[in-house]
Amino acid sequence: MNYDIQKIRSYFPVLQQKIHNHPLIYFDNAASAQKPVQVLKAEEQLHNHFYGNIHRAAHFMADKATGEFEAVRTKIQHFIHAELREEIIFTKGTTESVNLVANSFGEKYIQEGDEIIVSEMEHHSNIVPWQLVAGRKNATIVQLPFTDSGELQLDVLEKRINAKTKIIAVAHVSNVLGTINQVEKIIKLAHSKNIPVFIDGAQAVQHLPVDVQQLDADFYAFSAHKMYGPNGVGVLYGKRKWLDKMPPYQGGGEMISEVSFQKTTFNEIPYKFEAGTPNITSVIAYGAAIDLMDETGLQNIGRWEQNLLNYATSKLKEIPGMKIYGEAPEKSSVISFTIKNIHPYDVGMLIDKMGIAVRTGHHCADPVMQHFNVPGTIRISFGMYNTTEEIDLFMEALKKVLAML
Ligand code: PMP
Repeated sequence: MNYDIQKIRSYFPVLQQKIHNHPLIYFDNAASAQKPVQVLKAEEQLHNHFYGNIHRAAHFMADKATGEFEAVRTKIQHFIHAELREEIIFTKGTTESVNLVANSFGEKYIQEGDEIIVSEMEHHSNIVPWQLVAGRKNATIVQLPFTDSGELQLDVLEKRINAKTKIIAVAHVSNVLGTINQVEKIIKLAHSKNIPVFIDGAQAVQHLPVDVQQLDADFYAFSAHKMYGPNGVGVLYGKRKWLDKMPPYQGGGEMISEVSFQKTTFNEIPYKFEAGTPNITSVIAYGAAIDLMDETGLQNIGRWEQNLLNYATSKLKEIPGMKIYGEAPEKSSVISFTIKNIHPYDVGMLIDKMGIAVRTGHHCADPVMQHFNVPGTIRISFGMYNTTEEIDLFMEALKKVLAML
């Protein structure tokens, strides 16, 4: 494969350092990815040359910043193949994107007695906002379960959809199990009953090419910080036909057309949903992260990471007492596991002393932990810059840790 891993790694200054006297091995990419120089430089460039508040001024700085900001909207449009740039709304992150839809869509379309289907493998941020709106509206959350191998039970979905179902919320890729869900099938089924689907793409867009038109997703959300971009920025894609009809989520500057004490009218999409000064710096720098993924090619990144996934899975399986959570045939580069009689937190703490960053705990997915009846797992997750050599070092370190415990 033509994948210049050394060049890619050279873009990430953070990877060149030592942690606790060991070269850093960063396997916590599902929580947040590291940032390449291109992103850091884009931020610096903005602040050194043309920072200004966007959209509202006639001066050079504001004009230039506005152009750069809006160019990133178009980049994202192309990145996920949305039909219109107006369908791309900048938010704080996936969490805010879910809250926006739960509140705004919920306000208009969810009434007492209605049902919202949410999958059992969701991150808390794709559960709690729906629970909040359901609580306010006296609606009910209906669970879509998964099997022990980590696959959503689509036959159950078919049975749970009924005339009261108003929306279905599901992750494209699970942040614990790694399952790449068959969202296209789910959307087809939902649309055959006129039900819209909200897809949480926080763990998908950095690993596989996403085409929202091909998926026919009604809403699709993700966060820049998991895509080698800055934190504090996310995206909500929504089909125009929904966004036009949905009421504003937050009120403030930019989202209005005219304001008077008698009557206020609202701006067009996307601005209707972008109240106040957005995270100008991070959106502009996010563009550089998108460029890097485009140049490298998501197909290539995905293939590279699949190799890491397969390699690490087979190595982990050699460890006695190993249990891997999530063994769906279509998986992304996330592995959650426990080792018999070993507390995940102890592994996380000790392996950190060897310069290796892994995540331990419930991964903001308590229902997944409840499914398997475990308090937490150890999770390793790979990004575009990880290598099989790092996996070898991780395995050595893990064996040392297990010997200590
Ligand atoms: N959904 C999934 C599947 C996630 O993995 C995460 C982050 N761990 C989120 C939503 C929330 O993302 P953010 O914290 O960036 O809003």
